[in-house]
Amino acid sequence: MHTIEHWINGAATPAASTRTAPVHDPATGRQQAQVLLAEASDVDTAVAAASKAFESWGDSSLSQRTKVMFAFRELLVKHEDELARIISGEHGKVVEDARGEIVRGREVVEYACGIADALKGSFSDQVSRDVDVLSFRQPLGVVAGITPFNFPIMVPSWMHPVAIATGNTFVLKPSERDPSASMLVAELYAEAGLPDGVFNVVHGDKVAVDAILDHPDIAAVSFVGSTPIAKYVHERGTAAGKRVQALGGAKNHAVVLPDADLEFAANHLTAAAFGSAGQRCMAISVGVAVGPAGDRLVEILETKAREVKVGPGSDPASDMGPVITAAARDRVADAVTRSAAQGATVVVDGRDLKVGGHEEGFFVGPSLVDHVTPEMDAYRDEIFGPVLTILRADTVDEAIAVINANPYGNGTAIFTASGEAARRFQREVKVGMIGVNVPIPVPMSYYSFGGWKDSLIGDSPVHGPEGVRFYTRAKVVTTRWPHAEAAFDFPTSS
Ligand code: NAD
Repeated sequence: MHTIEHWINGAATPAASTRTAPVHDPATGRQQAQVLLAEASDVDTAVAAASKAFESWGDSSLSQRTKVMFAFRELLVKHEDELARIISGEHGKVVEDARGEIVRGREVVEYACGIADALKGSFSDQVSRDVDVLSFRQPLGVVAGITPFNFPIMVPSWMHPVAIATGNTFVLKPSERDPSASMLVAELYAEAGLPDGVFNVVHGDKVAVDAILDHPDIAAVSFVGSTPIAKYVHERGTAAGKRVQALGGAKNHAVVLPDADLEFAANHLTAAAFGSAGQRCMAISVGVAVGPAGDRLVEILETKAREVKVGPGSDPASDMGPVITAAARDRVADAVTRSAAQGATVVVDGRDLKVGGHEEGFFVGPSLVDHVTPEMDAYRDEIFGPVLTILRADTVDEAIAVINANPYGNGTAIFTASGEAARRFQREVKVGMIGVNVPIPVPMSYYSFGGWKDSLIGDSPVHGPEGVRFYTRAKVVTTRWPHAEAAFDFPTSS
């Protein structure tokens, strides 16, 4: 059985402990590897390597850091096929979708290639007689990232390129369910010329996470995952004196107005709800059909949901792969069962799907559930699987009120031909990332990514300018070079 080790100080490293977790192939249901689960002492070893590396990396020139980022970016392009296969093999998503997340992650590396511009300080000339003020930002030291299973390349890439380019050293604790992609990333950083100890990977579960949160030599923690764990990480990390950014779960609504092109909207809703088997933080899980749009929209969605081809992620004919675990498959099926019991209409039922030759795989088909109301479990819970629920609303105001009453506020979209309605929607909705006729409005890397309410705990989104701010702290320097004959002049504001 292949064992996935940690990556510490530039090399694959065995663990102090013997605890492991199984890594499955979700398409077959079989265990394909085991991953080490770190004890606190493994985290200590990684942090010690990162602290040592910070002594020189924190002092390295902007041109050296930029050079490494450009080389790393080229290696990500070169190894895209290999990375996509690794992601698909452990996560289950189709290879094309895995490529998509690599591209989105690489865009953050491209942003980091231009870090010199993002790090420019400011200068005020002659704030008082012969006195100037300048400000600049410096790295924090050792920072850590704790990431979820659903984007094993993209989500860590929201963090490490910006953290490293701004001069920090990094300890990544990826999801223990699909840990291998991070090991290839570590190898590519080494090949790109990143010094040993600047990027480290420690695999593990709560034990590793707690050791990171409590570690006195870690200055900041970036977390992405479910809301209960995001709240826990934020509370424990900040109590230990760290900066913490913690992105949580989601329940993303797409509002469809009667004046929208319903065929266009249904196409995009289908892709946004069932792509990656609904396991995207920006997946559309709720369609809000306004007025007369409803019946026709559901009719088109039904046809499209039935056309989604479910199969192994490695099969180019598959549109959608399995979900991550058997427990996730059962949770999705249970959500559909409960919605029917609570009075919703199951229009397309994915519960009993079997994929020939993959009977033990963690497959569940797309489900379309109509006439869901905000009180039902299927609306309240984050199902995180291929289930699109449809709510009916009479007006756009009612649709906005539904979204604003939801505890999550990650992404949302509106489909309409009316600029007036779209503008009102984008101004009034309490959500961080909004699409107008765009179903999954993930911001480009030079903007920042983050939701509102329970989708982001703390106040810091990831990457872009907010990421640079998060991984650095400012210094303000007030300078006077007095004339020799006036050396003891007391500064005044004149
Ligand atoms: P998760 O919360 O179970 O795990 C995230 C990380 O926390 C993993 O590294 C895991 O090992 C660790 N962890 C799990 N349980 C823990 C515990 N009790 N104590 C300490 N650490 C723990 O999330 P997941 O199932 O891997 O990912 C899916 C979730 O992530 C969904 O809720 C999804 O919405 C969310 N997500 C959000 C965003 C966003 O941008 N807001 C992006 C991606 C995923």
